[in-house]
Amino acid sequence: MVKEVAKAPQDDPWQVALKQFGIAADLLGLKRGVRELLSHPKRELTVHFPVKLEDGSVRVFTGYRVHHSTVLGPTKGGIRYHPDVTLNEIRALAMLMTWKCAVVGLPYGGAKGGVVCNPKELSLEDLEHLTRRYATEISLLIGPESDIPAPDVGTNPQVMAWIMDTYSMHHGYSVPAVVTGKPLSIGGSAGRTEATGRGVAIVARETARHLGMPLSGARVVIQGFGNVGSIAALTLHEQGCRIIAVSDSRGGVYNEKGIDPHDLLRHKDQTGSVVGYRGCDTLTNEDLLELPCEILVPCALEGQITADNAPRIQARVIVEGANGPTTPEADEVLRDRKVFVVPDILANAGGVIVSYFEWVQDLQSFFWSEEEINERLERIMVRSFREVLAVSQEKRVDLRTGALVRAVSRVNDALLTRGIYP
Ligand code: NAD
Repeated sequence: MVKEVAKAPQDDPWQVALKQFGIAADLLGLKRGVRELLSHPKRELTVHFPVKLEDGSVRVFTGYRVHHSTVLGPTKGGIRYHPDVTLNEIRALAMLMTWKCAVVGLPYGGAKGGVVCNPKELSLEDLEHLTRRYATEISLLIGPESDIPAPDVGTNPQVMAWIMDTYSMHHGYSVPAVVTGKPLSIGGSAGRTEATGRGVAIVARETARHLGMPLSGARVVIQGFGNVGSIAALTLHEQGCRIIAVSDSRGGVYNEKGIDPHDLLRHKDQTGSVVGYRGCDTLTNEDLLELPCEILVPCALEGQITADNAPRIQARVIVEGANGPTTPEADEVLRDRKVFVVPDILANAGGVIVSYFEWVQDLQSFFWSEEEINERLERIMVRSFREVLAVSQEKRVDLRTGALVRAVSRVNDALLTRGIYP
């Protein structure tokens, strides 16, 4: 059995999510019933299931699938494999998915799933068995018209392929639209891998335009050089920015004159890290966040910008590629210091937007070119940025609150229009 360790309210992700929702609910003057309803996940499934491992032993794993809201459509949200997964974390992430889909206008509600496990300690075969059994356990909830999972921390396109195959075997025919983030060979979408990083670069460009800050030569610092960070770096470089520092889990590299991200990617592919890249000074992840720059793009983990380091952040703009990189306490410091923060639910929504395109293509069995995908992504990101900016200006709040208000108000409108059954 998995024990839920009680956390202090300020560290409990579900309490933090409820607090953020409460701020938007107050600003919108939500009716009590609506507020109460949206403060609860619609449904939560906990499963304990056995897996026979390669060495012949049997281990029981715990998994979750939570639907926060189904008001705007079927639910959408990733599946996380990590030893620290808890029900409260999954609840919080499901609620965040409701807001992320709503803020960019996708016809989805929010969901999240997870299995308490360390995928790095499991063989490929064990991982496949675990995934197929977990997919079977949550098949009560998932489906192309009800709930469409996607990859998250610790899962990848291969895991999505196993879920798609398991679900399809139960139905007797192929159901590609049951998950997104699949490999291209089984109904994945062109541009899905690059979507989040591209979206980050699009909102960075729109922010620069709004602030009257030239993008050409703007100094950019990127924390995390994985999927999101590397694509954001390449796209911002194409847009004329100067990438002056980049880091990964092993440390960072810095060159005031600028780093060519294509060349850095080659170095990382050869050596496994950005560290040691030629012509650069090395620096720690802590120092990297505090470098003077125009745009700081955290693309690694949550909780990187805290009340402790926020007073020393010298960036003019922060674009949150990662989920939750800024703590609520740090947000207050940054707001006072007039640092312009583009929040995660808007900045990294490119991934779920192209997941939506993947689902639409699978349902139609008709696939679009990468140019079409990128054009549609650009249109939605730009429109969403402008809408959130307009709300934050009208309500005189920061962009994070503006994004939440925009999202919650969309869900509220749909809820009131649908009414209460029966
Ligand atoms: P990834 O695993 O591809 O890359 C993560 C990068 O962060 C790696 O380079 C890793 O070395 C680095 N890293 C890890 N610990 C670090 C540390 N302490 N300091 C600096 N760097 C560190 O993951 P990803 O898919 O790029 O996701 C990154 C973030 O973006 C996560 O918060 C994720 O939830 C969020 N996100 C991803 C997507 C997506 O489509 N991939 C969509 C929305 C949000």
